[in-house]
Amino acid sequence: MEEKLREYAKLLIEVGLNVQKGQTLVISCPVDCAFFARLCASAAYDVGCREVVMRWSDDYLTRERFLRADDSVFDSLPLGQKEFLNGYAAEGAAYLSISARDPEALRGVDPDRITRANRCDDEVSAFYDAMMANVNPWCVASVPIPSWAKKVFPDLPEQEAMDKLWDAIFTSVRISGKGDAVARWREHVALLKSRIAKLNELHFTSLYYQNPLGTSLNIKLPETHVWAGGDNTSRAGFPFVANMPTEEVFTAPLRDGIDGVVYAALPLVHSGNIIENFHFVIKDGKIVEAHAEKGEDILKAAIAEDEGASYFGEVALVPYDSPISNQKILFYNTLFDENAACHLAFGEAYPECVEGGETMSKEELKAAGLNDSNTHVDFMVGTADLSIIGTTKDGREIPVFVNGNFAL
Ligand code: ZN
Ligand code: ZN
Repeated sequence: MEEKLREYAKLLIEVGLNVQKGQTLVISCPVDCAFFARLCASAAYDVGCREVVMRWSDDYLTRERFLRADDSVFDSLPLGQKEFLNGYAAEGAAYLSISARDPEALRGVDPDRITRANRCDDEVSAFYDAMMANVNPWCVASVPIPSWAKKVFPDLPEQEAMDKLWDAIFTSVRISGKGDAVARWREHVALLKSRIAKLNELHFTSLYYQNPLGTSLNIKLPETHVWAGGDNTSRAGFPFVANMPTEEVFTAPLRDGIDGVVYAALPLVHSGNIIENFHFVIKDGKIVEAHAEKGEDILKAAIAEDEGASYFGEVALVPYDSPISNQKILFYNTLFDENAACHLAFGEAYPECVEGGETMSKEELKAAGLNDSNTHVDFMVGTADLSIIGTTKDGREIPVFVNGNFAL
């Protein structure tokens, strides 16, 4: 275990973020996982990191704040947050985010408070824009905490649930304890790049999604769209991997080019709540109807966060036959669940999804057909019987996915 943990921390610092000599590292981490943040900090100093700066979080205190703080505090960020996030981003820092949460940490909280708090991200848009455009290296990875592990494995005692979630995470990020994770990641990234090359060569004008769950969705793609995935290159010229694990290749849809109905294939954890069995009706790119059997108020608040929140920002392809989905575990954490199934995201598009996008202004990105928003929420649509047909510029129809897997 000790060795696997060290290998994992080293993988995140050297491949996930590729921390450079003299670079600052900001780690966001729940207090429950302090031991792992320490391992990551040590691995960062090993490669010459200038300083590790911590941003601690705690489910209990977050919930208490949402339930009991004065109502006036939800319309602005706590003092210093803006300077902290925007300031380190401007300095070129690397950002490691340890994603570990009780999926229902905010159950019963007034959705209006959550929406207002999410809107405050506007104050740190310089930070979010830098991450979305891959100016700074960033990496999201996970470590189990008891409340999350118990949700994933409700029938097991706490320690067994924790051990099982650790195993599932190690399998997902290709850690065996033999020290070969870096080599395995190089191979994996190369496979994703080969899928990207095929998709970019075919340069589909649209994709049609269909499955027996009820999904029937046509998605137009921007004229200059490009597929991305695997690793990215920071503005300083260093490769990094933004999500560990990652199994997806993705691009952006044309902002007003989506029509039809899409059904979620898995529950979605959003803002400390679980949304289940939901579907959207979409017209000219905009969500015109949202229905959920559970968490409908949270879903409706999420798509009303701002103007762009009811439009789409991402189209991602993930084979049903992949190391995460083959574990047949519902993780209740988007980092894992989105890498087990084809997904879409409502909200902002990644600038890298159009040619030259990473150095374009907001206006230029909009003109290229990309959606802008302060939010970006992935939700899963891939099932074992999903079919996706791509249409090329000259009208050829080519199967992209058959029975949930790549057909290209
Ligand atoms: Zn994605
Ligand atoms: Zn996404």
